[in-house]
Amino acid sequence: MSDRSGIGLTGLPGIGPARAAKLARLGLERLEDVLDYFPFRYEDRRSIQAIGEAQDGEVCCVVAMVARRPELSRVRKGLELVKAQVVDDTGALHLTFFNQAYLRDALRPGERYVFYGRIEVMGRRRSMTNPVFEREGTGQVTGRILPVYSLTAGITNRVMVELAQRAVTLYAPRREETVPQRVRMEHGLCQVEFAYQNIHFPADFQALEAARRRMIFEELLALTCGMALLKGRRGHGAGRVLRGGTPAEFAALLPFAPTGAQQRAMVDIAGDLASGRAMNRLVQGDVGSGKTAVAAFGAWLCARSGCQCALMAPTELLAEQHARTLDAMLGPAGVRVGLLTGGGRGSGRKALLAALAAGEIDLLVGTHALFSSDVVYANLGLVIADEQHRFGVAQRAALAVKGATPWAPSKMGRRESGEGGGDFIPTAANGMGPGGPVTACRDGGAQRAALAAQDGVEEQDGQTHVLVMSATPIPRTLALIIYGDLDVSILDELPPGRSPVATYLVGEDKRQRLYGFVRTQVAQGRQVYIVCPAVEEGEGGARWGQEDGPALDLKAVTTYAKDLQERVFPELRVGLVHGRMKTREKESVMAAFAAGEVDVLVATTVVEVGVDVPNAALIIIENAERFGLSQLHQLRGRVGRGKHQSYCVLVTSSKSEAARERLRALCATNDGFQIAEEDLRLRGPGDFFGKRQHGLPQLKVADFAADVDLLQQAKQAAEALVAADPGLDRPEHAPLRRRVRKMFEQEPEIFN
Ligand code: ADP
Ligand code: MG
Repeated sequence: MSDRSGIGLTGLPGIGPARAAKLARLGLERLEDVLDYFPFRYEDRRSIQAIGEAQDGEVCCVVAMVARRPELSRVRKGLELVKAQVVDDTGALHLTFFNQAYLRDALRPGERYVFYGRIEVMGRRRSMTNPVFEREGTGQVTGRILPVYSLTAGITNRVMVELAQRAVTLYAPRREETVPQRVRMEHGLCQVEFAYQNIHFPADFQALEAARRRMIFEELLALTCGMALLKGRRGHGAGRVLRGGTPAEFAALLPFAPTGAQQRAMVDIAGDLASGRAMNRLVQGDVGSGKTAVAAFGAWLCARSGCQCALMAPTELLAEQHARTLDAMLGPAGVRVGLLTGGGRGSGRKALLAALAAGEIDLLVGTHALFSSDVVYANLGLVIADEQHRFGVAQRAALAVKGATPWAPSKMGRRESGEGGGDFIPTAANGMGPGGPVTACRDGGAQRAALAAQDGVEEQDGQTHVLVMSATPIPRTLALIIYGDLDVSILDELPPGRSPVATYLVGEDKRQRLYGFVRTQVAQGRQVYIVCPAVEEGEGGARWGQEDGPALDLKAVTTYAKDLQERVFPELRVGLVHGRMKTREKESVMAAFAAGEVDVLVATTVVEVGVDVPNAALIIIENAERFGLSQLHQLRGRVGRGKHQSYCVLVTSSKSEAARERLRALCATNDGFQIAEEDLRLRGPGDFFGKRQHGLPQLKVADFAADVDLLQQAKQAAEALVAADPGLDRPEHAPLRRRVRKMFEQEPEIFN
């Protein structure tokens, strides 16, 4: 991680180049790396038993001498047995090893070993099969609490244990103490050396608990310090004052009366924008709570104040929809809306960018393409990120930093690939890291170059305001961390007239009835989604248990759609949308669906977030077991957006009781918060939004769901530390500062 000096693994006893390469796959290149490679469980091998007293089924160590030369027999091809007899003062034990012929010579008659395994008693005969063993006095894999490491092919746990032993001996005493002494005292945390020693080789379970607790606390402390620092960096910026209109004036533009919650959020936003401080606000609301209208208010106010607004959506599909909706809503009020997607090239794009640079566009809607290097704003006042969990903390930090410096994508990386897949990763290599081109500040050409030279200058008229919208009801524990650096408005009220989506779990045997139900819905004028868990680009394969059926590839989805049209619903209009279609195609399919020209839309998860077609009243989710609960809840949010009773049918042929139980939880409630908590409990935060989509630095030991108390304690400690020493500049905080910096590697601007 840090510098690459120190002892390499190749050349250590038992580690040749081949093994070293395998270890590298586990992220282990230097011996010191092993110190941070923690066991994932432990086996208690401390119990030592006399042979004559061991009970049937008992798992224990036996210290015994090999009585005579072991015998090797070939039972048949591919099956070799080594039989040995060992004795202690109380009796004899028969050992059988399968396919380990070399043991005949390895076990020396007359020598004493410790054997660990399960005792079997048959009459008077006591035996063990395939015991683990080592010479008496070695104490490496017997007679202790044994750490068990995640392994890879060709690397046994024994190899890992030996490496860990070396790493602990050599490096544990040298690790710096990152937790300030006062904090350690206050929270009863053990010292760093003890912690490393005992997390690998616990003296007993109490010591292990102390070690784990300290490691978790340390990790959470670094995390919460980082968040507190980010918050501190943003909290104080001056913001340009925007007072172009009030929520009441805006409400007149809407086709409906805003809910109380929407009104409160708008009042919050209007207050922020007029305050003279940079806004940094999250609007959080369950699917269908009406976040778009709130975003529209921000954009409208911004435009009325003579500034431009950029609205960033996580997928092109959603960007297109937003552009349509907002143009319809705000166009009549004179707001000029533009759509910029990655797909759009050529002269259209050129003209759009020229209009933007000339200040002839008030609201630019798009994906990450909004921050391409050739996008130049005339006068950017507000950035809105919709469905923000898809962007994550790092991206938001980048946004806020854009506010702190003249607007520029210098710290903004590019999305790796696919929709909703990767994170933005700023790196020096792709020219988007610090020091990369600063090309899109608000004054264009010559001045831009000047600003690039002195990145970090304060803008006279204040920072860009930032508004983020999150559809996902994030569990409170996680919200505490992720949004620790934001002000929050919550939309806790659905627009009137919604009834909860009725959700059912069905098996393959109900398919014909299900198709019948589709026909009934369409006959009543409704529309239907059928979602398939196809692998989208950049999304990887399975999301959930291995026992489940494979995801369809896009070809299969295409075939499925064709089949539905030709064989199942010849009388209906079936459409297809997926992530690899061209922007144009997607847009036209979605537009047709929104216009009611498509009855049944077969889709991949591209419709997961934000898509809004109120006439759709039924969503069928194929292979539902392949999705996480929160994701299913998002998908279900595609229906129930209008006045019609809506249905969600989860189809699964999974036999796994756990999978079915998970899905039943979804049938039982429409409360996004409850579902999110359940999802967090079942999957952990790493998986909560799909891979790493929460955007937090990856944690090694802490578990948000399980370690809530420690999280709260660490957060308090972090806030106190940062309040007393805002840059963590004091010498006694230097190790902690280094730790935080390392954890937030992706946000180099965290300190400066
Ligand atoms: P989300 O919070 O999921 O982004 P949307 O902004 O897409 O929700 O709104 C969901 C649907 O509810 C849209 O069709 C929108 O027009 C409608 N809607 C939003 N606010 C209201 C309201 N106050 N009254 C009635 N309908 C509303
Ligand atoms: Mg939305």
